[in-house]
Amino acid sequence: MKRIRIKIKGCVQGIGFRPFVYRIATQLGLKGFIKNTFEGVLIEVEGKEYLLDEFIKKLKRDKPYLAIYHFFEFSEISLKYNKEFKIIKSEKKGERESFILPDIATCKLCIEEIFNKNNKRYLYPFTNCTFCGPRFSIIEDLPYDRNNTTMKLFKMCESCREEYNNPMDRRFHAQPNACPNCGPKIYLLDSKGKIISKKDALERAATIIRDGKILALKGLGGYQLLVDARNENAVINLRKIKKRKEKPFAVMFPDLEILKKYVILGDFEIKLLESIESPIVLLRKKKSLAKSLAPGNSYIGAMLPYTPLHHILMYKLQFPVVCTSGNISDEPIIIEDKQAISTLKADYFLVHNRPIKRPVDDSVVGAIVNKKIIIRRARGYVPLPIIVEQELPNILAVGAHLKNTVSISKNNKIFISQHIGDMNTWETFKLFKKIIRDFKNIYKIKPEGIVCDAHPEYITTKFAENIATKNNLSLIKVYHHHAHITSCMLDNNLSCKVLGVAWDGAGYGLDKTIWGGEFLLSNYENFSRVASFRPFYLIGGERAIREPRRILLSILYEIYGENCFELNFIKNKFSKKEINILKKMIGKDIMLFKTSSVGRLFDAVASILNLKQKLNFEGQGAIMVESIAENTSDSYSFKLRKSDIWIINWEPLFLEIIDDIKHKINLGIIAGKFHNTLVKIIGEIARKSKIKKIVLSGGVFQNSYLTRKVVSFLGKNFEIYIHDKIPPNDAGISVGQVIIGANKLCV
Ligand SMILES: [Zn+2]
Ligand SMILES: [Zn+2]
Repeated sequence: MKRIRIKIKGCVQGIGFRPFVYRIATQLGLKGFIKNTFEGVLIEVEGKEYLLDEFIKKLKRDKPYLAIYHFFEFSEISLKYNKEFKIIKSEKKGERESFILPDIATCKLCIEEIFNKNNKRYLYPFTNCTFCGPRFSIIEDLPYDRNNTTMKLFKMCESCREEYNNPMDRRFHAQPNACPNCGPKIYLLDSKGKIISKKDALERAATIIRDGKILALKGLGGYQLLVDARNENAVINLRKIKKRKEKPFAVMFPDLEILKKYVILGDFEIKLLESIESPIVLLRKKKSLAKSLAPGNSYIGAMLPYTPLHHILMYKLQFPVVCTSGNISDEPIIIEDKQAISTLKADYFLVHNRPIKRPVDDSVVGAIVNKKIIIRRARGYVPLPIIVEQELPNILAVGAHLKNTVSISKNNKIFISQHIGDMNTWETFKLFKKIIRDFKNIYKIKPEGIVCDAHPEYITTKFAENIATKNNLSLIKVYHHHAHITSCMLDNNLSCKVLGVAWDGAGYGLDKTIWGGEFLLSNYENFSRVASFRPFYLIGGERAIREPRRILLSILYEIYGENCFELNFIKNKFSKKEINILKKMIGKDIMLFKTSSVGRLFDAVASILNLKQKLNFEGQGAIMVESIAENTSDSYSFKLRKSDIWIINWEPLFLEIIDDIKHKINLGIIAGKFHNTLVKIIGEIARKSKIKKIVLSGGVFQNSYLTRKVVSFLGKNFEIYIHDKIPPNDAGISVGQVIIGANKLCV
């Protein structure tokens, strides 16, 4: 006989872990206990030695699929001669290190129940169990107990309580456990917020969508707006009330069979769609839905139902439905009922009485060479931390200006917040501050240092400066593109020197110009710029970022000087009046800002190919160029010039594009050749820098055509690293900031 004590840290609470341990312990006839601690779980078991070995083996091998161990340790202690194996009460004090689970898509067992006429949860929209259901969006505090969630408003009925108390039941300690008798309920409201239906709310909601109306639905992490995705008028109306002109809408499909009619699906994509995170997956379009769903875009952002409410609604509808976050334009997703009714101009509201604790958008992922890349990291992924090898000081990193997230570190973990948004509106800034408070509170973290971008004018920079002064914290400023590369290094466990390719729309550079086409020799502390693109002007600053034609003008001005105004490429894109103004701006150096951004080079190509002259959302130009790109092995020329760094001159590239246009070469081929040229450029600089490890980061690498080609063409001679758990776009900046900040703080 022996007794051992096992400590497990990691993601082991609220996922049916204790019942799992209870089952294997009792099967083996072992005695002792398991309890949740602030760090994870503590198990003590005693019995024959070979049975204890078997127990540990099963603990490691058969663990529930949501369990993640970050620490597993056992030691022998003296016998206590328990009579049975027990699950005992959670600890109430100690240092908090528990994991909060993300919201998890409805599991197969729960789906079976909600579509089983004989089950007590038949068509019940809030069915869940320890394998699935709401977590992060309802948790108010740790430890994870019902009283610390928004489910505390609902008292479990006798039968739910029995499940909850039975260690052999799938709902043992399922904190949000509920049934039609005791759990949350749904209501249908009219546009003014008046209740018009309770009993048949779901049936009527389905009819509303079928009739081409707009339904606002209170989902898991916030309100959503739903319309029939095949109905052009409905989609146009949705665009009007959302004040969103062309940015693509995500679509929810009832099931894979229906989805297959509209998109190209491989096994890997199916795996992503059916994963417990159940994200929006970007898929190549095969058959079109409503025309204005995603204009000029060859992808559809598709997802499958992920809550019982969505499952039941989609089952009734049997056709694809636009399912977009309930907000206006770029503001944060709405979670409050009152605000939803006053702000969202939907025809009807399908609501429920379970409060949402915090906003969590749907996540968006893409698939590149059978690897997932995360474009928006939110529901399903947040707040699981990134585990790092080094112990980190407590650091708060406030992220980038666009696609903002914040990150906060503790011990060897980095907690990345959910997608917050572009810091252009007051509402987003409010949410930003709220989420920082939320993360500090729930994980009980007191930052020792605060990290922000090097850009002096960002609202996040000013916020960080303020907090640092007030609380006497170290303030560390980090360059945007260094943060990008560092985030991707971390994503691949690289801490040595790498050649980072940081390509995106904009980031403040060392020389105070706008960078975005950078090759950086980087490690976690420092970087040096080894190559960049020949700079060109953003004529009119922000406006140039929204108008690809202004970028084209800038490029052609660099090539032809004043004569560029005589070119048809320019004359047919601007009015005479506009041309006069632009001439004056260039002549007198008014509102001209230098940039080396590859994102903008994509815009110039979008303009010269006549795809788009004015953008409706960030990245639209690049998406359109990628969307038409055809497979070709040809490319264009470029020149390299050595000054203190290598300067990549795009002039031959554009001259050859102009030539191709004159020869009426297919636009898809031109776009393909443009992509291939970028691949060649990376290869050339990589060879010159004599570094094997090439790290790709920045929004440009969301482009699957480009990233796929870099990996396949340069992968033979170099080690190419792309992102994994952290988004390549600016949403990943806060993680890079934490790592650089930690390394600078420790020096
Ligand atoms: Zn379940
Ligand atoms: Zn119940």
